[in-house]
Amino acid sequence: MVKITIDHDACEGADCAECVDVCPMEVLILDGDKIVIQNKEDCSLCEVCMDVCPNEAVKVEED
Ligand code: SF4
Ligand code: SF4
Repeated sequence: MVKITIDHDACEGADCAECVDVCPMEVLILDGDKIVIQNKEDCSLCEVCMDVCPNEAVKVEED
């Protein structure tokens, strides 16, 4: 299993959305101005979202 956490205090949401743009599995999506996680079982643990996040607000780990 994969555990994905978004630190919404650090995340810039719709003003950034870098992780949404790069996620190849469409696991991270925008809901209004907030990043939400959908179908997390599709996450390939590629960690690209973590690489692009300017605020270290998204964390993906094997659970
Ligand atoms: S690790 Fe990869 S597949 Fe998983 S949420 Fe991040 S960008 Fe998407
Ligand atoms: S890349 Fe980071 S700061 Fe930007 S929307 Fe994603 S989690 Fe938030």
